[in-house]
Amino acid sequence: MKRVDHIGIAVRDLNAVLPYYTETLGCPLLKIEEVASENVRVAFIDAGNIKLELLEAMSEESVIFAFLEKRGEGIHHIAFGVENIETRMAELREKGVRLLNEQPKQGAGGALVAFMHPKSSNGVLYELCEKQ
Ligand code: ZN
Repeated sequence: MKRVDHIGIAVRDLNAVLPYYTETLGCPLLKIEEVASENVRVAFIDAGNIKLELLEAMSEESVIFAFLEKRGEGIHHIAFGVENIETRMAELREKGVRLLNEQPKQGAGGALVAFMHPKSSNGVLYELCEKQ
C-alpha cells in the first residue's frame, strides 16, 4: 500500500457536523458530492496530510444507514491509495483476503474503489482507492 488516502467517518447529518470540522478544527472543506452507487452524500475535509471523508446516508438502503443503526457515528473505514486496483485485488485474493467487491466500483471523486472484508482485517474495513 502506498499511503493512507483518507479516513471515512459515518455521520448522521452532514450539514450539522461540517462546522465542527471547518470552524472548530479549522480544516478546509474540499468538496461535497453525492455517490449514487453507495447512496451516500460525502464531504471531503482537508486535514493536512490526509483527507477525512464524512459519509451521510441518503436512504435506508445505504450501508452507512445500516452502520449508524448498528454502531452509531464514528470511524467507518480507512482507505489505502493504490495504483492498478485490479492487480491489487487479485494479489490480495491470492493471499486469502476476502473482498466485498468482485470488481472495482465508482466511488467519490470518480475514483475506483473496492473494500476488504473486516473479517480478513481484524475488524477494520479497509478500502482500496485508485484515483483516475
Ligand atoms: Zn472512502
